[in-house]
Amino acid sequence: MKMYFYYGVMGSSKTACALMKKFSFEEKNRHVVLAKPSIDNRDGKSLVKSRIGLACEAICIDKDANVKDTLAALGKIDVIIVDEAQFLSCEQVNQLRRLADSGVMVMCYGLKTDYMGNLFEGSRRLLEISDSIREIQSMCKCGKKAIINARYNNGKIIYTGNQIDIGGNDKYIALCHSCWEKGII
Ligand SMILES: [Zn+2]
Repeated sequence: MKMYFYYGVMGSSKTACALMKKFSFEEKNRHVVLAKPSIDNRDGKSLVKSRIGLACEAICIDKDANVKDTLAALGKIDVIIVDEAQFLSCEQVNQLRRLADSGVMVMCYGLKTDYMGNLFEGSRRLLEISDSIREIQSMCKCGKKAIINARYNNGKIIYTGNQIDIGGNDKYIALCHSCWEKGII
């Protein structure tokens, strides 16, 4: 089966799209697994929640875990949907690719780039080896296309720091390149 990568900036309804996809496959009696990379090493299940209120429990893929091993206990899987796929490692994307090759449909949703406009490791690999790549577009408040997940603090855009800032959903705003460079939020 195919591996799909749906990417978009923060607030572009990726998670809502992922959850609706899950629902629609389940209506057709497919066995769907919703998964999410755990970036802070918490184990067990975790909630995938969209801004419009949809939510669902997901299987956590731990850092350095083998995806196939993580899903092994779940029986036959028809479709794997991964939210926050930018946080997968390169090797985990390779493992998902092999699952797709062996007959599982793999649909990954995530950010393409970080707050500096640089690719995440997982997104880079997804762009390299997915069969199908689609953008979920959204707009900057100026009306242009938003392409950067700007990080901000106290009303100012931050241009340095670690790539991942966990729990920072209230610290990001999707901007066009021009507004980002001029520091307009
Ligand atoms: Zn703008």
